[in-house]
Amino acid sequence: MNTTVAALPVIYFDGKSTRAQPVELRMEGEFLHVRSAELAFDVPVAQVIWPERTRHGRRCAELPSGATLQCADGAAWDHWCRANGLHESAVVRFQQSWRWVTGFVLAFFVLMVGLYNWGLPALARGIVAITPQSFDEKMGQTTLSAIDDALMGPSGLALAQQEGIRNAFTRALRAQAPGQVPTWNLKFRKSRLGPNALALPGGTLLMTDEMVQLVDGDTDVLTAVLAHELGHVKHRHALAMLVQVSALGAVTSLVLGDFSSLLAALPALLGQAHYSREAEREADSNAVQVLTQAGMDPRVMVTMFDRLAALRELESKETSGGNAEKPAAAIGNWLGLAFASHPADAERIALFRRNSH
Ligand SMILES: [Zn+2]
Repeated sequence: MNTTVAALPVIYFDGKSTRAQPVELRMEGEFLHVRSAELAFDVPVAQVIWPERTRHGRRCAELPSGATLQCADGAAWDHWCRANGLHESAVVRFQQSWRWVTGFVLAFFVLMVGLYNWGLPALARGIVAITPQSFDEKMGQTTLSAIDDALMGPSGLALAQQEGIRNAFTRALRAQAPGQVPTWNLKFRKSRLGPNALALPGGTLLMTDEMVQLVDGDTDVLTAVLAHELGHVKHRHALAMLVQVSALGAVTSLVLGDFSSLLAALPALLGQAHYSREAEREADSNAVQVLTQAGMDPRVMVTMFDRLAALRELESKETSGGNAEKPAAAIGNWLGLAFASHPADAERIALFRRNSH
């Protein structure tokens, strides 16, 4: 295509003398041909430093030898460059670098998302695996005293009712293989959290009086909730999450073997934290497994979800109706680890329905 383009008359300076020599430029493939009565040489196009395209004025290209090509007629120069595809190749070069930058940004983004989604959980699992169980217990005690101070009071439930719920859960767990059940200890509290339940690391299961009342003390439904909470204990989700929210702090504590600063920060950390969807899924499937193996219908959990949803709806109506009093569940929202802080979505409800018999 270049052969049809007319030669461009320019002035050649060899870079050593001030002598101006008229030459003609022609493009042949990847080479720029420089010709005059005295001169005849070719330069690879890629080695020529082409001038920036400006609106007015002369153009000046630099050759690798230090020689320059000058053209007073900027418009003719630009036209000749365009006709030879030089303009296009500049655009292509720009696009190539643009593609590279985009590719780099994308790769960086993918890396960050990957690190966040898989790297951190993987790190957390690794740290959980090498952390002694005794740390879970210390963590549980610290959390319990913080929660007790801030939100809980002694349970008002009759001891016989507490014992009935405890026994029902114990019976349900009998069908589990011996190594499958972590140590647990069920405690009841009257609370400002409203109906809720919470598994503390180390195996303390907290259930509020309000949760028992919400389902009229139905031990099957409460067993389902406790089985979910025990799933969090079994998989040590609280520790994993603590590692994720304070990765550096946790690693430092482990390396130094000194957990005191981490434990001191614990209530604040757990207050902001919440279990991942994956952790909730694991806890839910633990509940389904416990219920199924005990010969119970996993659908009982749906009763709990329904009651909580109805309560939430009632509270939001009261709030929008100008009731100044803060609904109890709203106070509990900061406690992301608690049962009622994870509203059941269609996926969770479907799990318990699907496994129904
Ligand atoms: Zn949960």
